[in-house]
Amino acid sequence: SLPLSEVDSEIFTAIQKESQRQQYGLEMIASENYTSRAVMEAQGSILTNKYAEGYPNKRYYGGCVNVDTVETLAIERAKKLFNVHYANVQPHSGSQANMAVYLAACKAGDTILGMDLSHGGHLTHGSPVNFSGMLFKAASYKLDTETGRINYDTIRATAKETKPSLIIAGYSAYPRTLDFAKFKEIADEVGAQLLVDMAHFAGLVATGHHPSPAGLADYITTTTHKTLRGPRGGMILTNSEEKAKVMNSRIFPGIQGGPLEHVIAGKAVAFGEALKPEFKKYSENVIKNAKVLAEEMLSLGFKLVTGGTDNHLILVDLSDREITGKLAETSLDEAGITVNKNTVPNEKRSPFVTSGVRIGTPALTTRGMGPTEMKQIAKWISQVLTNPEDAALKGKIHEDVKQLCKGFPLY
Ligand code: PLP
Repeated sequence: SLPLSEVDSEIFTAIQKESQRQQYGLEMIASENYTSRAVMEAQGSILTNKYAEGYPNKRYYGGCVNVDTVETLAIERAKKLFNVHYANVQPHSGSQANMAVYLAACKAGDTILGMDLSHGGHLTHGSPVNFSGMLFKAASYKLDTETGRINYDTIRATAKETKPSLIIAGYSAYPRTLDFAKFKEIADEVGAQLLVDMAHFAGLVATGHHPSPAGLADYITTTTHKTLRGPRGGMILTNSEEKAKVMNSRIFPGIQGGPLEHVIAGKAVAFGEALKPEFKKYSENVIKNAKVLAEEMLSLGFKLVTGGTDNHLILVDLSDREITGKLAETSLDEAGITVNKNTVPNEKRSPFVTSGVRIGTPALTTRGMGPTEMKQIAKWISQVLTNPEDAALKGKIHEDVKQLCKGFPLY
């Protein structure tokens, strides 16, 4: 059959333009990354043609011999990477991984306890506009307003008060590591199960650069496309045979039909890459870059939530400045730097406006950028945030950004 450029020029052109945008812009959204060519090749393969409801060697369709090989490799690599006994690689997304775990660990109407969305939690951790807040009673813990950090005493007190069936540890915007042993202790005290949603920091866990929840959490969920640098998708891990059976049945037939075997092939390739020594170096550099960026922003007079970072992201607190998170995001975009606005602890503005920006290093580290580039980027960010309406300045920085990007080609 004909190539995309001939079959559908509109989609082809949009992809070409996106390719240029990715090549010539600084991608600093903390949840994004660039997968390898190999991952994309697997994900763009003929495996998309195959139905495979069920699990390897227990399918509801014939002709699954090759996808069984693919999915088994993905499972085995995931188990090795995260040191767990059971893995389900079928969730189409991080949200579906979480949904399956809630349906495994709770009955409808039970209480779940997660981090407040405006303090860095994820929509699926109990937001009223999400299934998690619609089907379950959602309780939440907030960050300490003084330190901007998680306060385990507050979580314990909230857990005792709200008696959740499930406690969720994990975040979308928090610049420090989590203490899973403390979470487990609290869960045990109130008879709750513990879910660690490591979507953001899974890559750092895989290489030992973030404490691992393995052996402490009842269930671990993750996305595969953030620090883990795989295709867009989700995964669930556990050490318990009984829980593995339940989580598998909640994914299929519970909430999904046929698995996306082409995506699972991409996951297998990404896990294989993450098991290599180069990926260890990569994780180390992701954190090193985030720390350099944090130090530079501090020295340029910016406030950071918690005063720094231990992981792949920083949260710039703009609440003492006139500029909002929203204006920061759009002005940086005009200068070729992509970040996202984010609420900060004690947020006074609406979630559509916010007083912060979240900036991450996973994607630029994949491109090979290091401390020198981070220092330069911090200066550009500072200039834009100090003069957000200066079109000439943003235009000049955008040109400089393109020049820098030329030195770090993608694909
Ligand atoms: N959990 C956390 C902590 C996340 O940050 C995200 C995505 O941002 C998800 C779950 C949901 O993943 P997805 O967007 O694949 O549904």
